[in-house]
Amino acid sequence: TVDYSWKVSGKDSGGSIGLRCKNVIAVGSGKGGVGKSTVAASLAYGLHTLGARVGLMDADVYGPSIPHMLGASGQPAMVEKQGEDGQTVRRIEPVVVDGLKTMSMGYLVPPEEAVIWRGPMLHGAITQFLKDTDWGELDYLFIDLPPGTGDVTLTLSQLLGLAGAVVVCTPQQVALLDAIKALKMFEKVKIPVLGIVENMSGDIFGRGGAQQASQKHNVPFLGELPIDSRIRIDADAGHLQKLFDDDSTAKPHLLKICERV
Ligand code: ADP
Repeated sequence: TVDYSWKVSGKDSGGSIGLRCKNVIAVGSGKGGVGKSTVAASLAYGLHTLGARVGLMDADVYGPSIPHMLGASGQPAMVEKQGEDGQTVRRIEPVVVDGLKTMSMGYLVPPEEAVIWRGPMLHGAITQFLKDTDWGELDYLFIDLPPGTGDVTLTLSQLLGLAGAVVVCTPQQVALLDAIKALKMFEKVKIPVLGIVENMSGDIFGRGGAQQASQKHNVPFLGELPIDSRIRIDADAGHLQKLFDDDSTAKPHLLKICERV
């Protein structure tokens, strides 16, 4: 377990408040719409169902979809906490959804509102999300990155020693080119890539492209999640958690990916 309190919270951390976590894992993609948030939320919830203490931070500040997918609503509460050094500090309580601790810009900005931020503001928001949220002690903190950009990734790599990153892509060749860019980006900021997940494999987009790309670029292949309207329906309806019900065809695929991460 790494205690990030001092690192992310600075002097006012109060010692015992902040983030203490064994594995901080970023989930990224070369472009949007490939199912990055779906995979991030599924990994987080899946590991929670396996008994781990898990947090999920939605760093996709431009298109925060995690609250909707998990059916979470409401605003995170502000609380005053006393740190080990006796100082009182104000912290944001993560919104707990079915045992999963979550934080997202979606809780703070009305859904129809557009977020337009320049790099430095983005840096500030991400830093605040991490340091001011009372995450407590976690086994895993998953961070859903915005698609493509390096800004947030750079901020995170400066703030935390990330255990690694998971890259999500779809099987077709054009999408793989973007995924490879994502691999290179993580390489540049020295975040180890834990592996690639192929999402939406099946008739429409083909199959196996990501596996080939992972072999070629020497990164592990974490598994595939077939294209399945039930995944879209459950995410749209705000109960992605149902993908872990016993009758869900996605469940064995998701559990395999969870185990490999
Ligand atoms: P991203 O975070 O990469 O923008 P999302 O996770 O928001 O992508 O997914 C984009 C859309 O695709 C959502 O409507 C989601 O429900 C749907 N989706 C994701 N994965 C699958 C899948 N394997 N099968 C069917 N629909 C999926």
